[in-house]
Amino acid sequence: MNIPLPNQQTDSGLIDPFGRAVTYLRVSVTDRCDFRCTYCMAENMTFLPRKELLSLEELDRICSCFVGKGVRRLRLTGGEPLVRRNIMWLIKRLSRHLDSGKLEELTLTSNGSQLEKYAKELFSCGVRRVNISLDTLDPAIFKDITRRDHFGKIMRGIDAAQEAGLLIKINMVALKNLNEHEIATMVRWCHERGMDLTLIETMPMGQVDGDRYDNYLPLSTVKEQLRENWTLTPLDYRTGGPSRYYEVEQTGGKLGFITPLSHKFCESCNRVRLTCTGILYMCLGQDDAKDLLTPLRSSGHDLALRAAIDEAISLKPEGHDFHIDRRNQKPAMTRHMSVTGG
Ligand code: SAM
Ligand code: SF4
Repeated sequence: MNIPLPNQQTDSGLIDPFGRAVTYLRVSVTDRCDFRCTYCMAENMTFLPRKELLSLEELDRICSCFVGKGVRRLRLTGGEPLVRRNIMWLIKRLSRHLDSGKLEELTLTSNGSQLEKYAKELFSCGVRRVNISLDTLDPAIFKDITRRDHFGKIMRGIDAAQEAGLLIKINMVALKNLNEHEIATMVRWCHERGMDLTLIETMPMGQVDGDRYDNYLPLSTVKEQLRENWTLTPLDYRTGGPSRYYEVEQTGGKLGFITPLSHKFCESCNRVRLTCTGILYMCLGQDDAKDLLTPLRSSGHDLALRAAIDEAISLKPEGHDFHIDRRNQKPAMTRHMSVTGG
């Protein structure tokens, strides 16, 4: 009889107490970033000391454990995932799960700054889609939002990604008084280039320099405005996340809306989020978290780690409780989006 060794055990899946299968892991591989988007970070951020980060080998071990337990999609994010030193080593290593068929998709969310350099290599590692965050097509507004003068570099990154064969979805945070006048232009530009677009509402995560409420733009209003000129047909397409998708009849492209503040999207949630220090967050909008670092480092085999993952999933909350609190001026979540990667 073949008795599986501890590291070879397979599972029938990760099911939370509300019957939801967890099939999607987002991994923040670094909290550092080469940008300082005003809604995401303060200009003077204190980043984690490098020695506190999981090594790339440890990230591979945790991700592989999740894949063994039934996770089918992995998304690397950050901070900016492509600024982590030797990140391509991890991506290449994880691609073995694509080759084996255990993993359906390995993907990234990126600000695009390193894509000129890495697009071809990403494709050769089996990455087929990337999400790129781009909030404006105006270089001056780009500099205001990101606090960096890198618009040209991002455009070259998008070109390189398309030339390499990567499908692109653009993420645009909709910001009152900043880029709201560009939304229709962005829809047209993305769809003309064969890219989907997702609009995101600002979420109250982590202290930033200004008051987020000043730029908070409810997407319900945006949707109504777009409907004055365009026909938006709801699509059945679901990602198990907070996006709702529409087809824009006049452009033929897909347009998503992520509205965590004004809508509940939790009943179909299929995801958990790992930080670069080995903390697993079971919900973007709650503090419930499980330390995976201690079980990971407690032994060379994965028994303790697997047990910790099971326990974490048994604690996944039913839903989140986001709201922008105008009176207290405090973010609903103290951690920044760059910690869990969105
Ligand atoms: N640096 C990469 C990027 O910008 O795509 C990956 C990490 S970033 C934290 C992931 C996504 O979160 C980006 O699309 C970004 O626009 C979005 N984001 C960051 N802070 C946010 C906030 N407070 N509210 C809404 N979206 C936010
Ligand atoms: Fe960096 Fe992405 Fe945050 Fe902008 S949104 S500061 S690119 S992590």
